[in-house]
Amino acid sequence: MNKTLDRYSTQVTEEELAAHLASAQVPALVMLTAHVTGDTSVLRDEWRPNLKTLPLSGLDAGTEAAARARCFELLVPFLPTQHEWPAVPNEALRRQLATWLMGSENEDAQAMAAVAFTPNNVDPRRPDWTLDSVAPDSALNAVVIGAGFSGLLAGLRLKQAGVPFKIIEKSQDVGGTWWENTYPDCRTDVRSHIYTYSFVQHDWETHYGRQDKIHGYLHQFAADNGLLEHVVFGTEVTASRWDAETGIWTLDTKTAQGVGGTIASRIVVSAVGQLNRPSIPSLPGLDTFKGPVVHSAQWDHGIDFANKRVVVVGTGASALQFAPAVAKVAEQVTIFQRSAPWLRPTPVLRQEIEAGERWLLLNLNQYRAYYRFSIFLPRLIGNLPAATVDPDFPPTEVSVSAANEALRQELTAYLLDQAGDDEKLAQAIIPDYPPAAKRIICDDGTWVTTLKRDNVRLVSQGVNRIDETGVWVDGEHIEADVILLGTGFKASDFLLPMSVTGIDGKDLHKTWGIDASAYLGVTLPGFPNFFCMYGPNTNTVIHGNLVFFLECQANYMIDAVKTLASGGHRSMALREDVFAEYDKEITTESAKRTWGWSKTHSWYMNAEGRSTIMWPLPAREYFERTSCVRTEDYILS
Ligand code: NAP
Repeated sequence: MNKTLDRYSTQVTEEELAAHLASAQVPALVMLTAHVTGDTSVLRDEWRPNLKTLPLSGLDAGTEAAARARCFELLVPFLPTQHEWPAVPNEALRRQLATWLMGSENEDAQAMAAVAFTPNNVDPRRPDWTLDSVAPDSALNAVVIGAGFSGLLAGLRLKQAGVPFKIIEKSQDVGGTWWENTYPDCRTDVRSHIYTYSFVQHDWETHYGRQDKIHGYLHQFAADNGLLEHVVFGTEVTASRWDAETGIWTLDTKTAQGVGGTIASRIVVSAVGQLNRPSIPSLPGLDTFKGPVVHSAQWDHGIDFANKRVVVVGTGASALQFAPAVAKVAEQVTIFQRSAPWLRPTPVLRQEIEAGERWLLLNLNQYRAYYRFSIFLPRLIGNLPAATVDPDFPPTEVSVSAANEALRQELTAYLLDQAGDDEKLAQAIIPDYPPAAKRIICDDGTWVTTLKRDNVRLVSQGVNRIDETGVWVDGEHIEADVILLGTGFKASDFLLPMSVTGIDGKDLHKTWGIDASAYLGVTLPGFPNFFCMYGPNTNTVIHGNLVFFLECQANYMIDAVKTLASGGHRSMALREDVFAEYDKEITTESAKRTWGWSKTHSWYMNAEGRSTIMWPLPAREYFERTSCVRTEDYILS
């Protein structure tokens, strides 16, 4: 059974380390050795990893063996003191490690090395205050809407600060998107060890967590931290109204049985997610189809696909997971691809973590922390230049800069290799838009293998229309028993269908129109004491980590609550001028990025071609700007 990594229960012996040494990833082992022994001579140029293969070194077997042997030799004398090893590397060493890992002096990497290293049992962003200590007579309380990845984290921070709170959750369990999406082979495409709260590590079985395991992790997190008793399940918040007289939000709620109610709260944290309102395409005749029409997020597990003719609409991240699984059992699968996805080679996408490596992650003190560091830091720094438009390049719908072109060539080579001799297939699977204009999907070869199956047909265009028995495309009728929609979500419709009414009756969605925006994705002018988790412009393309960004938002939210409590304030509202300046900056920066520049359509853009989804600046900017609330940005009363 999986267990949360809360302690090192065993003392690793020389024999045990020797037995598991071949499973150790060299980058993590080298950094661990430098940390524990203080001997930084192991940070050799010839042992430096390839950034593209991390956590693997990408080195040849002989070089790896030499690195492992030297680390073993240096580590053995320190094994008896394993439990006393320094918990964190000092700043000088952190910088040295970051430089070695990244292969150059990267200022952002050095600055972010501290947050990239998370020792076991330490929660560095736990609030260092409690409501009792800063405002014992405070009447502050909070309601969190949603018990997914972000809502549970917000709940934990409120609990740690001793702020009374409830979490209102429309489903019957925690987990949000990881509770709702149960289609076959549903899993994350972010490595498990960084798709985890930084301070609650886990004994993952696979490199990329499966849906049921991620849901289990979140449920365990909620149980371990006493959050479940704060959750009101099966209840939806339909409206939130601010009363300036009392400084209180009133939330209208509705149960699944339609029973209404209200809750009063000083603070509201919206943690409703972005990818939870299925986008059902308005395909002519869809409602006339006689068979089941199933969206990926509303999977019907009652359907037996054996001997079925299946139509799949869409080739995004969801379809690339469920369509291969369905193709293994269905009679015929016809996949409608409006635009081809870029694929990132990810050989271990569906693989289990090898037993020796899992043993090291569990037992060798600091190995897990450096394993994570070796994945997290490069991911956080990412490759924003490859997603940045160079006006002198000049940018086209092929590529937008030299770095983007280099990425395009690399990803094209992978697709060509996958297609092999099949030129028609190669033509069909190479995207006609620049990489990073929409999500690059992780692939272990499964997708093109699926497209090559005898029972699979790829149609490189959208569906024309649908009738009772199938779909039409260019005058051809394709018979179908089931239609599967991998057509994504209404990601730009933030916070819908809930209505939110702020100062002077200001309606949030009327104010936004289709251009949702929030300061750092969290606060809004005219909506005091209202905080968003995973709000507008808080996603990352190739330069960040979603869970880390959630941790930044939770940190900002709880610091705002401290500002309210310690100052004895009733409310805090973002200043209009601060918001306007921020909004202008984000709009300007988004336009410089591939996803803001390209005309291809994706959930990164709203109906008017503006990106309200992506964070367009380096991750370090997000971390620093959310590290504490600047009180001068707010009107406190
Ligand atoms: P998506 O990326 O928005 O893909 C939707 C697909 O449906 C696209 O191929 C789109 O074509 C197509 N489509 C939409 N409307 C259509 C229409 N009217 N006719 C024909 N095709 C249509 O949605 P998703 O695959 O559900 O993924 C959404 C996001 O969820 C991902 O980007 C990711 O962030 C998350 N997700 C993650 C994972 C994971 O971690 N592994 C798995 C699933 C989802 P166009 O591209 O031409 O618009």
